[in-house]
Amino acid sequence: MELKKLFVSIDIEGIEGISDTLEATTTNKKYRPDLMEEHIKMVFDEVFDLFDVEKVVVADSHASGTNLNYNFYDDPRVWHIKGAPRLYYMMTGIDSEFDAAFFLGYHSGANSPGGVLNHTYAGAVIHRITINGKVVNEAILNSGVAGYFNVPVVLISGDDYLEKECDVLKERGTRFLVTKNAIGRYSAMMKPRSVLKKELRKILQDIKSANRSEFKPFNFEPPFEIEIEMHYPQMAELCSFIPQVERKGSHTVIYRDDNYLNIYNMLIALTKLAASTLT
Ligand SMILES: [Zn+2]
Repeated sequence: MELKKLFVSIDIEGIEGISDTLEATTTNKKYRPDLMEEHIKMVFDEVFDLFDVEKVVVADSHASGTNLNYNFYDDPRVWHIKGAPRLYYMMTGIDSEFDAAFFLGYHSGANSPGGVLNHTYAGAVIHRITINGKVVNEAILNSGVAGYFNVPVVLISGDDYLEKECDVLKERGTRFLVTKNAIGRYSAMMKPRSVLKKELRKILQDIKSANRSEFKPFNFEPPFEIEIEMHYPQMAELCSFIPQVERKGSHTVIYRDDNYLNIYNMLIALTKLAASTLT
């Protein structure tokens, strides 16, 4: 398939070389945004070599979206969205004009039994999220936003646990680049960059030779019901002050809507609201 217009959302926890919370903490001296840049540069070098790309939009999507340096990839086709808060958070900038989306450096979800630095949006807030009764992670939730615009997610990079959680995306053609093998939450066997590069090239060649019809945009079945289980009762209590948000038990709230974008943005807003009880 062609990749003329490509949307990229990049996080840090799934990047090769990252295993510790401090390496993903923007205010810590061990913070390693340079590894994100090395990863995305590796991907862009190969993508620009193989495909006839016209435009790439990158949504800088870890924490407050200020990880990549301005002009980190000096190419007139590469546009960079940064900063937060922003509508559609990790998916800001996507629309129906894109041929495909890549999710780079992604990680397994909050209640995964394994995976490096697993969490969903806010580790300090979210214990578990389900949509229509099914447990979801960031990759699946964000794929729903891409799917709303009829854009397939063709490549995801992250650890081996993330791949295990994403059968629902693999069924729709999404390819996985495994950056590291998780040993524990804060430990992993890192793949050498040269090996990773070879595997990436093979996957991209495979995407290039595939038909567009092999990749199916991901959508949840409407009507949508999102259930968010939080770490503390006061978080669910505060969120339930919003009239459309229903409290279910001590730690959990529910929101229903027929529009998936409303579900997504409500999730992001509730996460921030709940986090405000921590300070
Ligand atoms: Zn992150």
